[in-house]
Amino acid sequence: MTSEVLALAKELILRPSMTPDDAGCQALLAERLRRAGFTCESMRLGAVDNLWATHGGGGPVLVLLGHTDVVPPGPREAWASDPFVPEVRDGRLYGRGAADMKGSVAAFVVALERFVAAHPAHPGTLALLLTSDEEGDAIDGVRRVAAAFRERGQRIDWCITGEPSSKQALGDLLRVGRRGTLSATLTVHGVQGHVAYPDKARNPIHLALPALGQLAARTWDDGYESFPPTSLQLSNVHAGTGANNVIPGELQVMFNLRYNPHWTAARLESECEAILRAHGLDYGIAWHRGGEPFHTPEGPLRAAAREVLARFAGAAPEESTGGGTSDARFIAPLGAQCIEVGPVNASIHKVDEHVALAELEALPDLYCALLERLLA
Ligand SMILES: [Zn+2]
Repeated sequence: MTSEVLALAKELILRPSMTPDDAGCQALLAERLRRAGFTCESMRLGAVDNLWATHGGGGPVLVLLGHTDVVPPGPREAWASDPFVPEVRDGRLYGRGAADMKGSVAAFVVALERFVAAHPAHPGTLALLLTSDEEGDAIDGVRRVAAAFRERGQRIDWCITGEPSSKQALGDLLRVGRRGTLSATLTVHGVQGHVAYPDKARNPIHLALPALGQLAARTWDDGYESFPPTSLQLSNVHAGTGANNVIPGELQVMFNLRYNPHWTAARLESECEAILRAHGLDYGIAWHRGGEPFHTPEGPLRAAAREVLARFAGAAPEESTGGGTSDARFIAPLGAQCIEVGPVNASIHKVDEHVALAELEALPDLYCALLERLLA
């Protein structure tokens, strides 16, 4: 017999929702949630579909956060079965998005239905936020929805993202934050000339080296709770014409900072530029802010998640701030505590992406247990 969560995950995989195309996933889910008593608001922003479904009212506001889009499958021949035709083999469900994150989204919806059936008059607001632009540019997705929430005064207390976070077994890792990322492209200007006449040139390599050395050697901080120390890494350095008798006119450098909540992007930018200026460099710099860090300190959400995950994994979860980006970075600045809990991530973005049936079947129970702890 096909379970509810398996049937729904299959329905979602059948819809080839490559970013930013939602391919009808959200309409299917909104229909189900409406039947369960949720109020559904579709927010179409640019080419992106977003769904905001709520049940109840007032605080606290608990949001389940996910995405319906998937990354492209790559060549069909590389897959053992069609990536957009769900297939169960060897105790696993195969298909693009099975793990990232249509399995979690299906489990969210089944858990929400079960929870409101058992607690029709639960305290506070229970909500689901879905976007079809998580895997792409992430511009018209949760970033813009969060801006709209800020404008209309929509508060969020707790946010649970269903990204595949587990390492070997469901619930063995609880993500409680993530580092920020900031990139720079630096151009140091000099004056080109003959190496035999350095007095008639300005060598940008010589001018830049002490500043780059200082940037690379600097200790930014000693870490922050479970975060490692902030780190600056030079990733590209280029200057020179290829000839050994020419002082180049320009030096180009790229570097990236992975930073913990000691810092904001703005403060790091001004610290770096202060060093460049202190060395008297004539430079131009382009910054790209990839996302501020977020961190959920000890509190009711983390405590509830730790207890529930331990029950499912058989041991207390590792509490981590590692891993890649997620849309939680846009929700955290609204003042929300954010955690990420989802299935094992071993096959995500790969060919033959899959989720173990045992994990998929356990996910609605896990999410429902979290809702019970927080809103019942
Ligand atoms: Zn994902």
